[in-house]
Amino acid sequence: MIRMRGVDKHFGPVHVLRDIDLEVPAGQVVVVLGPSGSGKSTLCRAINRLEPIDTGSIEVDGVPLPEEGRGLAQLRADVGMVFQQFNLFAHKTVLDNVTLGPVKVRKLASAEAREQALQLLDRVGIRDQADKYPAQLSGGQQQRAAIARALAMKPKVMLFDEPTSALDPEMVSEVLDTMAGLAEEGMTMLVVTHEMGFARRAAHRVLFMSDGEVAEDTSPDAFFSEPSSDRAKDFLAKIL
Ligand code: ADP
Ligand code: MG
Repeated sequence: MIRMRGVDKHFGPVHVLRDIDLEVPAGQVVVVLGPSGSGKSTLCRAINRLEPIDTGSIEVDGVPLPEEGRGLAQLRADVGMVFQQFNLFAHKTVLDNVTLGPVKVRKLASAEAREQALQLLDRVGIRDQADKYPAQLSGGQQQRAAIARALAMKPKVMLFDEPTSALDPEMVSEVLDTMAGLAEEGMTMLVVTHEMGFARRAAHRVLFMSDGEVAEDTSPDAFFSEPSSDRAKDFLAKIL
């Protein structure tokens, strides 16, 4: 579903992604761990082309990333992304946030988009918030609205970049539970998180990034019980 080959990226003198080779098969849940500044966000942003790469290639479902134009809108629909900051449209209701993309990009009729949106809001547990504005919701509810909005585009892949880092602690589990549900339903997911419980419970695979490299690519069990690199050992010693 995702294939990266020899991907390199610099920000000025900083080598942010170093020769990344990565294949994620359909239905796999990959948790990306690593210290701050190791390139995790840039990796996610490269996959839906929010960040152009210097060299190498990236394909999603066999299609090379488009440079611009209509192809880019299709890619953004196919690759849903949920960020630390919820990025909802503040002046639109929750329902309108979820229907906007399907109506504009997928050309869905508005009655159909509304029906689908209500189902998705139900699935993430906030159907009763549909007519409110984002500021009237808790952080956890806003993040679940953001997940519903991404799902409304019927993505092939979901990217999560620290989706719970901005939440109050008591709201973390409602968002992680929503994500775990998606994982169980077979969604292909790349999840950057510091939630080790989620990694153990939902991940099929752990990538550990360090200085722009994938330093380890292994099962959650292997990563947590016997990390092979010193960098991963240091990282785990600091967070566990
Ligand atoms: P992570 O998500 O693992 O914390 P990032 O991918 O955000 O890491 O950043 C990797 C490196 O790239 C860091 O050194 C960061 O300072 C740098 N960086 C990220 N975005 C930009 C940008 N837009 N301009 C310049 N440097 C950036
Ligand atoms: Mg980041």
